[in-house]
Amino acid sequence: MDQRKVLVTSALPYANGPIHLGHLAGAYLPADIFVRFCRLLGREVLYIGGTDEHGVPITITADREGVSPQAVVDRWYADIRDSFQRAGISFDHFSRTSLPIHHQTCQDIFLKLHKKGLLVKKSEKQLYDPARRRFLPDRYVVGTCYHCGYAECSGDQCESCGKPIDPLLLIEPKSKLSGEKPEVRETEHWYLPLDRFQGQLAKWLGTKPHWKENVLNFCNGMLKEGLRERAVTRDLHWGIPVPLPDSEGKVLYVWFDAPIGYISSTREWAAQQGDPELWKTWWWDKDTRLVHFIGKDNIFFHALMFPACLMAYGNYVLPDNVPANEYLNLEGLKFSTSRNFAVWLGDYLDRFAPDPLRYYLCANMPETRDTDFNLREFQAHNNNELADTVGNFINRTLTFIERYYEGRIPERGAASGLDQEMLGRLGRIAGELGGHIDNFRYRAAADTFTEFARFCNKYFNDKAPWEARKSDPASCATTLNVCCQAVYGLSVVMWPIMPFSAENVWTQLGLSTNWKDHPWQQDYAGKLPAGHKLGKIEVLFPKIDDEAIQAQEASYKGGKTAPAVTAEKDELPGVIGIEHFAGVDIRVALVKAAEAVPKSKRLLKLTLDLGPLGERTVAAGIAGHYAPEDLPGRKVLVVANLAPRKVMGITSQGMVMAAVDGEGENEKLALTTIDGAIDLPPGSRVS
Ligand SMILES: [Zn+2]
Repeated sequence: MDQRKVLVTSALPYANGPIHLGHLAGAYLPADIFVRFCRLLGREVLYIGGTDEHGVPITITADREGVSPQAVVDRWYADIRDSFQRAGISFDHFSRTSLPIHHQTCQDIFLKLHKKGLLVKKSEKQLYDPARRRFLPDRYVVGTCYHCGYAECSGDQCESCGKPIDPLLLIEPKSKLSGEKPEVRETEHWYLPLDRFQGQLAKWLGTKPHWKENVLNFCNGMLKEGLRERAVTRDLHWGIPVPLPDSEGKVLYVWFDAPIGYISSTREWAAQQGDPELWKTWWWDKDTRLVHFIGKDNIFFHALMFPACLMAYGNYVLPDNVPANEYLNLEGLKFSTSRNFAVWLGDYLDRFAPDPLRYYLCANMPETRDTDFNLREFQAHNNNELADTVGNFINRTLTFIERYYEGRIPERGAASGLDQEMLGRLGRIAGELGGHIDNFRYRAAADTFTEFARFCNKYFNDKAPWEARKSDPASCATTLNVCCQAVYGLSVVMWPIMPFSAENVWTQLGLSTNWKDHPWQQDYAGKLPAGHKLGKIEVLFPKIDDEAIQAQEASYKGGKTAPAVTAEKDELPGVIGIEHFAGVDIRVALVKAAEAVPKSKRLLKLTLDLGPLGERTVAAGIAGHYAPEDLPGRKVLVVANLAPRKVMGITSQGMVMAAVDGEGENEKLALTTIDGAIDLPPGSRVS
């Protein structure tokens, strides 16, 4: 294994709201598991984090709440740091980008690039909100993505296809401040000509065949399209001032500033160690393995833009790996901070222990494709795998020793075939599991762990010590001795995934709870000598009951709880469970009126009667297929619980269903109607 020192970073969370489980599974838990593994393995490792405290959404929150941006980030920095601590995310240092040390670091890098002539000043066109009389930062603009057609695309990056966005190219742009169409005006900004680094980046990426496929595919796609220059400054009053004359009102672009936060956080750490230059032994040493853990929406900045900045500066080590995760969804839908559709980490930790969550997310890690967080599955993992398998083996072993051997580990005699098989597995577990973690295969790591615990239980059953105790006491003693060593082995390989439980097992075994006393690769079979006294025994993983699950569900389902679904889920991507479908409210609607929408070839504005749900206005893209006068009196099907959205100035409160084939000129379309069914009143449910 590669024993070079490792500098690990997790994407800086944005100090504008709490952490949810989607964040945790993306960039924090995988990093923490890897870091803890490195520590036990004896690698020199430094785990760096912090909060990203600049940028436009923070000013939006501050404006909305009538407080300063600093007050917003102070609150969320404390909240985020606290949640991470409670979840066991073990940063060596957790800083924040609003600190002077970070401002200095960023300005230094900006000035060095400027001196080297690597920044280009350009007069650029920017969107301006005449109603509010200010330039609009990218995130103050929303429109339709020109790559993929996503309608709620933000002006900086498309949430749907992940590509960076030029807000001037957005289709039908609108100001988030006034809701009006912005105008285009001139302003001056500094750019990093990323196109000049294209060759260097391509060559460097060519040396990374071991990277995850999703990351390489994304980068190669961007390189194929050709990299473009990117603005590194913005017109905004909250952020790091541009350190040049005549730059009043301009700050560094938050995406230039945020990754540099890893460097400044390391500098702050070094200063606290009493050696302010110590950070250079990490960032300026080519033998450092730099590993950035991120979510897939951050690939562009970590695998292309930040490396280009580091190349431009010189001295710095470039990332050795960027293991980006896909998304964790919540019961089939995206986590949404704005709609409060999320399991908040702090809220979760008020109800449950951190380790069952860490285990479930590890087993369900979105490492190669999006995965789903489901509370019922979480409950099943806890109750079946942790409580009934892992916890059961540990508990039955320790209580047996307490009851029949006065809590002291019995003598190991001659090993039978079964004993040797068990000891053989125990000798291999660290290598197998470590190989998975070292290669960011978390799902396989969780599987290997649980499979080993299953084998331990089988060994206990096959040896039947409760019978052998009378018929063959020596064999019984050997079994319990071997089981104890296996409990110890389980606890060590458990620590990266479930540190709190591992430390609990060490207490129960009467051992030190300091991880430094429990190295990864060692002879677990010889750890506990005969006669060693156990500590106080307790249940490691209590079962989680339905009531607790329902209470957590209610927190994001508005008090309503979904029916328990136990049917096996198909593993095919795109297949949904019945509870997902049940969330879609389809109704019969009677068309009361229909009219053309000015300047739109596609849209008709429909007034619909949904019976008990009242009247709705819906914009439907059916203009080329139906004349407005043909529609009143017809009964159509409509998705009634879609969030309202604005289309061409109309607030559309639902979606009319239609069958479609082809696109553009060749599009064939038929409304889904139930015209014949006169007995079905408007508002009837479709299921
Ligand atoms: Zn897109």
